[in-house]
Amino acid sequence: MPLITNPQDIQLILWDIDGTLLMPKGVGRAATRLAMLEIFNTDAGIETHYFGGKTDWRTLLELLPPQGFSEGTIRELMPAYERAAAQHMNRIIVDYAVEQCPGAHALVTELHRRGYPLQGLVTGNTSSIAPIKLRAGGFDPDWFVVAAYGSESPDRNDLPFLAVDRAEKLTGRKIAPEQVIVIGDTPADVACARALGAVAVGVKTGYATSPTELEDAKPDYLLDDLTTFWKDVLPIFD
Ligand SMILES: [Mg+2]
Repeated sequence: MPLITNPQDIQLILWDIDGTLLMPKGVGRAATRLAMLEIFNTDAGIETHYFGGKTDWRTLLELLPPQGFSEGTIRELMPAYERAAAQHMNRIIVDYAVEQCPGAHALVTELHRRGYPLQGLVTGNTSSIAPIKLRAGGFDPDWFVVAAYGSESPDRNDLPFLAVDRAEKLTGRKIAPEQVIVIGDTPADVACARALGAVAVGVKTGYATSPTELEDAKPDYLLDDLTTFWKDVLPIFD
């Protein structure tokens, strides 16, 4: 299990969005529903669908094949779906009281101010949706200098690799897996950290389906919320 022995070695923090940085209060489900109706003419299953930890691509792969859509068709229509989802979300998000998770904004702001470690996104949201949600939650999307999105793969475990690759290209430095922290609120976030070999931080502010689910996933660090991140995970500047 990769535990942080030297906090100064951490180069990159990869953030989940929903349930970790902010609570979207249903706007994701609503925008997904409208975009599905527009592009695929069905919203079957969306009302009871569990989104936690899934990429949006995975969501479409779970909901649409029973309605007669093939994986190939879903892949082909992903760009159109992304555009539609962003248009709908831009229109409806004012009606949703998106909330910051405790400690998240202060932590992201402090990391940005210090400029190190770098911050990025590993999110199930599409590339078009993520910045809209972040802005609604009071976060500047530009502070996350690399990202991998839920419109890039059905498999969340692919995403940390994409993000690290982009961070290496951006910085011109090699970034080892144990120099990366992945922070999220579901077992899928822990699993994608494991896939890379990164440090997994679980935070109990979001969408775990039971009180022990996140604990059972055995993240390296398990936090009630992000207010104790500096103390518990990265006592780098104390
Ligand atoms: Mg989440």
